[in-house]
Parts: sequence; C-alpha cells; structure tokens
Amino acid sequence: MAIKPRTDLSALFDRAKSALRLDERIGEKPNLASKRTQNLKGRVAKGKPVVSVCPYCAVGCSTLAYVSDEGKLLDVEGNPDSPVNGGHLCPKGSAIFGLTVNNARWTTAKYRAPYATEWEDKPLPWVMDRIAARVIESRERTFVREKDGKRVNHTLGIASLGGATFGCEENYLLGKLMHSLGVVSIENQARI
Ligand code: SF4
Repeated sequence: MAIKPRTDLSALFDRAKSALRLDERIGEKPNLASKRTQNLKGRVAKGKPVVSVCPYCAVGCSTLAYVSDEGKLLDVEGNPDSPVNGGHLCPKGSAIFGLTVNNARWTTAKYRAPYATEWEDKPLPWVMDRIAARVIESRERTFVREKDGKRVNHTLGIASLGGATFGCEENYLLGKLMHSLGVVSIENQARI
C-alpha cells in the first residue's frame, strides 16, 4: 500500500501567514488595539491604593481601596499581596464598592421609639448613649449572682455578636467588656 506523503502543516501555516498577513492580525500586537482603546485609562489609573479588609466574612480577604487625591473612593479590588485571597474576591466581596457608594445607602443613625411606626434620624452620640443605657438596664435586670447554690455572676439577657472586620485588639476589648458585664453568649460572626 502506498504511503501518503505527510502534509507539512508548518509550511502550510507559513504560506497562510504571509498570504493573509497574519503577523499583523493575531498575537500580542499593539496594532490589535484601536486608537480609542489605546487611549483608554483604567478606572483606578489615578487612584491611590489603600490596603483594607473585606467587611463581610471571617475569611478576612484583603482589599485595595483606590482613592482620589480628594479622598473620594474610586473602586475596591482584591489585594494581590494577600496570602489569604491573592487578589481575588468572592461575589460578595466584589460588591464592596457598590455597598459603599450608592444612593440608597443609609448614612444616618435610625431610631424607632417604642410603639412608633416611623423611623427618625438621631445623632450618633445620642444613639451610643441610648445603647449604653439599655445595656446597663438589661444587665441590672437580668444579672444572676447565684444559681443552685453556686456563684455564676452572669446575665443571659444580653448577647454579643462581633464582626469580621474586628482585629485582634478590638476582639480583645470586646471580650473584656462582655465578660466584665457577665455576658456569656459571645460570638464573632462567621468562622472558618
Ligand atoms: S465575603 Fe468573600 S471576599 Fe469577603 S472575606 Fe469573605 S470570602 Fe473574602
């Protein structure tokens, strides 16, 4: 049986390359980008990257928050230097910029008085004082010194839920505060 001559694909390709001027059309050639594309700048080109952390979960992905010279937030991306996320963010973390900069975001403290049907704006110091007063009142009302003949010194009327953005120092202080109040229900949001 006669053996068919093998087709030299590389020779064919070379011929096609010169006939179709492929060198000018494919590959990493600057001529592939239009003038308009060449003049485009990235949305963070003028931004200064500030290292931050995703506010959502206990994975603790590091972010780069790009800010303008005027201090305006331009965008938030994953931090490539982070050993935790290596520049990536999950869909929730990718939405940090939208969470921060959007017209529907509340930027004032809201308070709804007992039996009221409407929320009202209150200054932050007023809200902090109110929370402190309610914590003290709840603790006084529910504090138990002894139970079944044993000293317990606790309150089951207050629970503490921390956030993923708390650092070691903040968590330490929160733990100290809650334990000193006698709180035993202490959690720190999601965990891995
Ligand atoms: S929510 Fe997503 S991006 Fe944010 S810390 Fe968790 S895994 Fe990372």
